Amino acid sequence: MKHVYLHVPFCRRRCSYCDFSIAVRRAIPAAQYVAAIRRERDLLFASGEWDDQPLQTLYLGGGTPSLLPPESVAELVAFFLGSSSRFPFPASRFPTGRRGLEVTIEANPDDVTPPVAAAWRAAGVNRVSLGVQSFSPAILRWMHRTHRAGQAGKAVRALRRAGFDNVSLDLIFALPGALRPNLRRDLEKALALEPDHLSVYGLSVEPRTPLARWISAGAIAPSGDERYADEFLLAHQLLTDQGFEHYEVSNYARPGRRSRHNAAYWTGEPYAGLGPAAHGFAGRTRRWNISPWAAYERTVHQGKSPEAGREILSEEERSLERVYLGLRTRSGVARLHLGSEAEALLEDAVQAGLLERRGRRIRATPKGWLALDAMVARLSACWVT
Ligand code: SF4
Repeated sequence: MKHVYLHVPFCRRRCSYCDFSIAVRRAIPAAQYVAAIRRERDLLFASGEWDDQPLQTLYLGGGTPSLLPPESVAELVAFFLGSSSRFPFPASRFPTGRRGLEVTIEANPDDVTPPVAAAWRAAGVNRVSLGVQSFSPAILRWMHRTHRAGQAGKAVRALRRAGFDNVSLDLIFALPGALRPNLRRDLEKALALEPDHLSVYGLSVEPRTPLARWISAGAIAPSGDERYADEFLLAHQLLTDQGFEHYEVSNYARPGRRSRHNAAYWTGEPYAGLGPAAHGFAGRTRRWNISPWAAYERTVHQGKSPEAGREILSEEERSLERVYLGLRTRSGVARLHLGSEAEALLEDAVQAGLLERRGRRIRATPKGWLALDAMVARLSACWVT
């Protein structure tokens, strides 16, 4: 399998805006987790759903994978690398770059100490995505984050000393105005840490989160569309001026530092997703796992597949998804075979500065990214394959 995602569901507490499938735990059941993942991989292999392609990217996401002890991280990396014919185990050093294997761990800054960073690097992890979110102490408290503002810098320094040359920082924009957010200051503080990659996400209000409850109780007002657009364009300007490539709607990279794992999602490559609530995709089939950790663990322990459901996309759904995902990226999509109504829509979007043509490709402009959902919804209404 070329691309593997492991969902590590454990968190110390739930952040105020988060609706991910997580398990809040004081003590992390690391040994049970690793055993469950190994078992799920074996079940997939036995069912013929694990192809023999050499591994290219392994991504530990969550949840909070950095809550796993480093030896559990090392065991997982070794297991998946050992499963790959291209990387016979043991292998403790992988270069970062276009041709090397990419092994990413998502981490909260408070979990990254010098010994942990060194242990991850020795295990073969070569990319770290740090959930910084904000540099404002008050906003971090409001978000229910576990780290303090100064810990992001300490984490980056520990990673650099351990030899990581591919560090990504996550930031959140479009925060409620009552919090007095300052995105420019956050971006400048992030840039001062010299990251290789930045993910800049707009805050979205998801049902059943503390944030949604606060908003419906009138305790806080969400940021409006205008602020969202202004801040999105501010980030684009500031980061591209600093030499970052805005290569996907939420992602910026130094040359050679795009996320190769996430690129697989955007280009429709097959990937396996293991762990509770993880999704996998192959051909036209998308499958997903049972969400609650306890039910997932019990099921794989009994030797049964933890798959909760699957859908097979029609040709039409698949091609529309290709367009949607392609337009999220700076590469855009190859010219399409569309009916005249859809072609007219695209031409209108080009005239409005939302799309641009580049040879045989068409791609969204930064302004177009702000209108992408509406554009694709209109396109889907007149879709002809
Ligand atoms: S650490 Fe991440 S996954 Fe966990 S609650 Fe916070 S945002 Fe959600």
